[in-house]
Formats: sequence, C-alpha cells, structure tokens
Amino acid sequence: MTKYIFVTGGVVSSLGKGLTCACIGLMLERRGLNVRLQKMDPYINVDPGTMSPYQHGEVYVLDDGAETDLDLGHYERFTNAPLNRDCNFTTGKIYSSVITKERKGEYKGRTVQVIPHITDEIKSCIRKLATPDVDVVITEVGGTVGDIEAMPFLEAIRQFNLDVGRNNCMYIHLTLVPYLKAAGECKTKPTQHSVGELRKIGIQPDVLICRTERELPKEEAEKIAQSCNVERRAVIEERDKEYTIYEVPLSLVNNKLDELVIERLAITNAKPLNMDDWKSMIDSMRAWDRDVNIAVVGKYVKHHDAYKSVYESLVHAGIANHCRVNIRKIEAEKVEAEGAEKALAGADAILVPGGFDKRGVLGKLEAIRFAREKKIPFFGICLGLQCAAIEFARNVLGLEEANSTEFNLTTPYPVVALLDDQKKVTQVGGTMRLGAYECRLADGSKAREAYGSEFIWERHRHRYEFNNDYRDVFSKAGLTISGTTPDSTLVEVLELADHPWFVGVQCHPEFKSKPTKAHPLFRAFVAAGLAYRAEKKTDHARHRAQSVISATFPS
Ligand code: GLN
Repeated sequence: MTKYIFVTGGVVSSLGKGLTCACIGLMLERRGLNVRLQKMDPYINVDPGTMSPYQHGEVYVLDDGAETDLDLGHYERFTNAPLNRDCNFTTGKIYSSVITKERKGEYKGRTVQVIPHITDEIKSCIRKLATPDVDVVITEVGGTVGDIEAMPFLEAIRQFNLDVGRNNCMYIHLTLVPYLKAAGECKTKPTQHSVGELRKIGIQPDVLICRTERELPKEEAEKIAQSCNVERRAVIEERDKEYTIYEVPLSLVNNKLDELVIERLAITNAKPLNMDDWKSMIDSMRAWDRDVNIAVVGKYVKHHDAYKSVYESLVHAGIANHCRVNIRKIEAEKVEAEGAEKALAGADAILVPGGFDKRGVLGKLEAIRFAREKKIPFFGICLGLQCAAIEFARNVLGLEEANSTEFNLTTPYPVVALLDDQKKVTQVGGTMRLGAYECRLADGSKAREAYGSEFIWERHRHRYEFNNDYRDVFSKAGLTISGTTPDSTLVEVLELADHPWFVGVQCHPEFKSKPTKAHPLFRAFVAAGLAYRAEKKTDHARHRAQSVISATFPS
C-alpha cells in the first residue's frame, strides 16, 4: 500500500519547503523506495505560466508541457521520480475541474461546496499519484499555515489521515527558528504558534524541521518538542548551508530523518541507506581550486529565483568540470547603460537566458555583440537564441532594423516571428509551444559534439521562432543552423562558425540538468569558459613577459 507524506510550512514563506521535499524524496529513493512528488499551490491562477517571474520565480516546464512551480525543479534535480501535469495543482485548477463537473451535471443536483467537493477533488489529485508500484507520495502544500487560501488543502490532508489510517500517512512541518541578535537567543515562539495553528485545524505534525541560521541549542529543541507535542528526536535542525544546497540531504540524513519516516510509516521494504556518491560529490566540490566567471545577462536578475534552473545547471556544469562557477547576475539594462566592456568585465563566458517582452533586449544584443566580437564563449537560451539572430542580422548582415515581431510588429526584417498557428491563438494560458520536442543536430556542430548524439529531446516554452526565410543568408554569413526539428521545419540551434563556442538554442536545456548528471550543453559551455580563462591568463603572462623584455632590451 502507498504511504503519504504531507509537508507544510509555517511562520514565513521561502523556507525552502520544496528543497526539503526533494531531499526527503532523495533519501527515500536511496533507501530503495519508489517515490512520487507533488505540489499544491493555493493561488487562483490555473498554473504559474501566466505569472511574471517576479511573482514566484521561474516557471518550470515538464516533458508533457505542464508549466509548473519551480519547486518541481528541485524534485527533478534531486530524485528520479517522474513528473507530469498531475504533480502540480493550484486552487484555480481544482476549482476549474469542480466547476466543469458541476456544469456537466456530475453532482446530481447537490449543492457544490468546499467541503466535501473541493476537498474530495484535492484528495483525488493526491491519490492519482499512488499507482500500485509507488511506495511513498510526498505532497508539499504551498503557502504558509494560517493563510486563508491554504485552508481547503490543509483540510483535505487532515481528512487523509482518516481515509488511509494513521500508519499510512504522516505530517512534516517546516518552520523557522529565528536567532535574535539583541537577545543572543534562538526563538521558539513562532514555531509554537505555527504548530498551534496546525493543531487547531486538527493536524498534529509528526516531525518538525526547524530552519535556522545558527545551531539549534538542545534546550530550545527540547522546548519545541514539549510545547508542540512532538518527539524530541523528531525536532530536526535544518541549518543554512554555507557552501551548497546539495549538502542539505546529508544533514537531514545525519539527523536520521530517513529512519524516522520509515518507522513512522511502518515501511517494511526499505533497504540500507547509501549516500556514498552524494558524499563524494560534496567532498569534491569542497576541494575545487579553480574558478570560472559566468555572466548571466537577463531582465529578471533581481529576483533570486527567476533563472533558478539556469543557475543550478551552471553549478552542475561546475561539478562536471571540477571548478567553482561564479555566477555574475547582470541586469540587461545595465549593459545597455554602461556598455558591454564595462558591465561584462572579467566574464569568462556569457549566457543570455529566456525572457519575454522588449525591456532589456538592447542590453542583451550588446552583450551578444561583445561575446561574438571578442570570441568569448556564448550560450543563448530561447530568447537568448532569438537575440543572437537579431544581433547577427543587424551587425553582421547590416539589416539595421532587424527584429523579432514580439518587439516590433512592423520590422522590415522579421528574423524572428510567429508561426501561422500561433497567430490564431487568442488565450494566453498554456498556449505556447510547450514541452519536449525532438531535435536533430548537424554533424560536426558544437551541440552534436556536446551531446554525443544526433537526436535529442528538450523542453520548450516559447511562441516565436527563427524565420525560415533567413536560413540561407544566415548560414552563408557564418551563423549556421546546427539543429532543427527532425522534419527540418523549425530551427532549434544556431552556432557561429568562426568562434570558439557560440551556441543558441530555442529549447530550455536547464530543465534537464542534475548535480549528478550535468547537462551536456552547460558542461561544454563551462568548459569553453575555462578554456577562455586559461587563454586569457596565458595572453596576460605573455604580454607581461614581453613588456619586461622590451624594458630590459630596448631596441
Ligand atoms: N519571448 C520569446 C518567445 O515567446 C522567448 C520565450 C522564452 O525565452 N522562453 O518566443
């Protein structure tokens, strides 16, 4: 029988519930169990696809084209659990399916209410993941306990306990234990209040994971256990990690969270834990003695999580190349204002990620021109590829007003434009080219070299495409088409011929990278950055030697 773990959060948002769920998933997989992960988001949007990255950070796309919360990115990076559109529900999605059923007459004349109809719908979404092969379903409830919007979700998970029995489900609550400098103490009161809120609605947490900046003193942990009615060993510290988030699973395992879960859920088929490869990955990260500076030039850099998967993929590429990747987040408008030379000084490689709308595009074009001319490794993702096409058209082909029709509908040179079926689209939500598509890579291309295969599958999220009318002229002038859909109708990859590493992709490879398996394009890009850095150093040394020689032996 499938067991269920529900993870809630209290005190404040942004505690890292998603990351914690991912770590629990990883731990259980490492105990030989088959897990599934899922997130419930209390907001009304049907999915996060219509929201700006400033709201909830990046929109994470799955193979099936679902636009989901970025926490699913953590799930995928840490575990092997397959994800699909059943793995992320919002209030909007739940209500819209209940309302659709009501319109079809499925409730047979009854008054449709939050309890039981909305809560039943939520429960059926949780059960959907519990196929016979699945040992544990981990469900994260978004938001913070006490939020009005989260109430139906909390009520549904409370009822679950009655439906499946106390041994088959458990509740883990993530909370904050702040350190007050003035008092010189960790404060437990917010945790007590938050658990109080949960108990008021009938949920007694089995485990408390306490997010802290400093070590949680024994007395405080005991106080929390006693006042929250939780076993002492189930009060678990999750301290901020100095080095990398990939250390979090190790600290949870050190606190025996896997044992607790297995015992509490009476799981009988668990194997002994094996984290050896993970441990050696962390050890090797600590031993790095070389760096590479990667500039990420984007529009949403102020939001910590707007390019979450891109940043994580760069870290993974660092793991694969045994180097520390220093990510320099650069506001595209800064490049526009200061010029690329100044804004991108010290960059060993430049990445332009995806995006929408024209703010910052001029800065991105300037960054790409700089990378192209100075032969600095460049990686363009989605809008990054589209900008590379615009920059090339303007500055190499001399088509000064070249543009994407996303930014100028009447451009005389629409090098990036909408396909006919996108022109017919009237609704915004869920109507882009979404999900996994196949691509064929040209022999001898950088992309083919990185992947080591001719056919690849990558996820997409865009409306606009490279305009096929410009294929020939671009290729002849040196921006080659190195990847297309297998039927050759859409351009998927562009590469600059006379450049050490200049690759633009229409897909989002960042959604398929893992710490244990860096994405091939990110790995190759960071390797190119390292090579550029080494060459720069050699040039510098050569230059210095030359000036010493000419000062010693003036001609
Ligand atoms: N705005 C562009 C499009 O819709 C690029 C999208 C993206 O970068 N994800 O095609």
